Amino acid sequence: MNDQITEEAKSRLDKLFESYAIIAEDTYVYLCDMRYDYSRWSKALVDTFDLPSEYMYNAGGIWEEHIHPEDRKAYRDGLDAIFSGRQEGHDMQYRAKRPDGEYDICTCRGIVITDDDGKPRYFGGAIRNLNQQSYIDTMTGLRNQYGFFSDLKSYIKNKTPIRIGMAGIGKLTEVNEVYGYHVGNKILQHFGRYLMDNVTNRGGTYRLDGSRFAIISTLQSEEELAESYEEIRAHFRKGIRFDDVFINMELNAGILSLDEFNVDDQTVYACLNFAYQESKRHKHGDLVSFRRDLTGENRKRLEKLNAIRSSITNGFEGFYLVYQPVVDAMTEKVIGAEALLRWKSEEYGIVPPDLFIPFLETDPLFPELGEWILMTALKDGTKLAEHVPDIVINVNLSYAQIEKAGFTDTVWNIVKQTGYDPEKLCLEVTERCRLLDMELLRNVIVTLRAGGVRVALDDFGTGFSSVGLVKNLSFDTIKIDRSFVQQIEQDEREKRLLNNFTDMAGTFGADVCVEGIETSGMCDIIKGYGIHSFQGYYYSKPISIDEFLEKVKSGADCFAR
Ligand code: C2E
Ligand code: CA
Ligand code: CA
Repeated sequence: MNDQITEEAKSRLDKLFESYAIIAEDTYVYLCDMRYDYSRWSKALVDTFDLPSEYMYNAGGIWEEHIHPEDRKAYRDGLDAIFSGRQEGHDMQYRAKRPDGEYDICTCRGIVITDDDGKPRYFGGAIRNLNQQSYIDTMTGLRNQYGFFSDLKSYIKNKTPIRIGMAGIGKLTEVNEVYGYHVGNKILQHFGRYLMDNVTNRGGTYRLDGSRFAIISTLQSEEELAESYEEIRAHFRKGIRFDDVFINMELNAGILSLDEFNVDDQTVYACLNFAYQESKRHKHGDLVSFRRDLTGENRKRLEKLNAIRSSITNGFEGFYLVYQPVVDAMTEKVIGAEALLRWKSEEYGIVPPDLFIPFLETDPLFPELGEWILMTALKDGTKLAEHVPDIVINVNLSYAQIEKAGFTDTVWNIVKQTGYDPEKLCLEVTERCRLLDMELLRNVIVTLRAGGVRVALDDFGTGFSSVGLVKNLSFDTIKIDRSFVQQIEQDEREKRLLNNFTDMAGTFGADVCVEGIETSGMCDIIKGYGIHSFQGYYYSKPISIDEFLEKVKSGADCFAR
């Protein structure tokens, strides 16, 4: 039996323990005064494993009870070696039992500190619970994405008004490629540090992923944060020396104020990310504020987006597809159908995709919705093919889907599951996809086409590097955006433009589909340009699958004039 610990010894133990705990972040800490076999353990550990108290005599013995029977001997041997002075430290892994009976894998490291006579005095160390999510980013030492969400949730729960900012470094990938990862890492560390020193404190600065950081502030206004952002931006733009290289960087940032609280953390994140992407893609890094205040219209918009977003996790309730026929330009027979997404609810009515897709695209949930769209379209396509055997179903893709690792495998899985003929599937990519890495996009397109799937370039002419895209990637079809043919009955220039487009598509071996045919006049003129197919209200607006099926029962020329 050990002596009762003295007040003095206990106070010393506490001081030592606290200095340990400061640096331990999200590992558990323990410290044992070996003379009394009296220990203090982290409260988090005591709570997680339901130990009797933070302060314990014979903590090693108590803890042993929690260790998996198969791991106990090794643990006991290790501990004995330490207490008998045969060993000065230990480093082991074992399973520890939680109150619910499950085991967590823990790694435990510790060292012995001797007193002036060289006798073992303290045994202290850290236990890391590998089943517990770490809240710390090891590279920057800041809180990570999990820490961010955990804090955000508690702010929302406590209805604390906050400003949340997301900032990132542009072109970090290039820096990594040119100068190596160690330089990239230094930049990240410097950036995190800078945010921490100049904007919020350590607790309010987070590294989310890659080159993106976030801050949460309860004190500063959006204006103050905007000012800070401009200063930081100037600092990085001016350039910084790392080792022997000098690098100047451009930043992007989005900001959001949260004063109303019937939104969840994921929606807040999606809105923030949306503002960030706006800054990156359209505002050359200027700070974009999602909302100054969430009153009136804006608040309704956010709540609507929240509802749409929740639908994804709620079995896609409210989402449905409508189909617009694609007709052969010469025969006017239906040869295809484009699937177009809709969302409907009692409260908000029917919401067209333009209002929510650009917003959802940056959401990590979007690929899941994309899979649902493809799956649904192929099931419906199977039904249509019973009446029009060669019908091709067109499905729109978002760059977020293409960007996701394993995208083509997802397509093959869905094709397989539905038993759909891949040659009757056409995937449409828009010019927004030029934001993707070109090599990646090329690989995806080549893989899809090798598997028989067709690929179309949608909204041709609305983006920037259209011709470059067509030249570098091979498409089966080029879809000309309706804005180029709207005035074709009156405007000679649109005719010349159309002529150039079809010429170019011909050079690269692609078919041309013209969208937005609204009148028979347009139809007659455009026919003369060697166009392959038409789509537009003149033939039909997008309709439900049931209406479409009803139509095609009467044959393939059901949409002809
Ligand atoms: P889009 O792919 O260019 O689709 C054509 C849009 O033009 C559709 O609008 C269609 O209803 C409309 N349209 C068709 N013919 C005419 C016409 O003669 N006159 C006029 N004024 N408009 C016509 P919608 O359904 O509102 O879709 C808008 C955009 O939303 C689509 O443009 C597409 O970029 C995106 N989208 C729709 N469904 C999906 C989807 O399932 N996935 C993805 N990623 N994007 C989608
Ligand atoms: Ca389309
Ligand atoms: Ca289009």
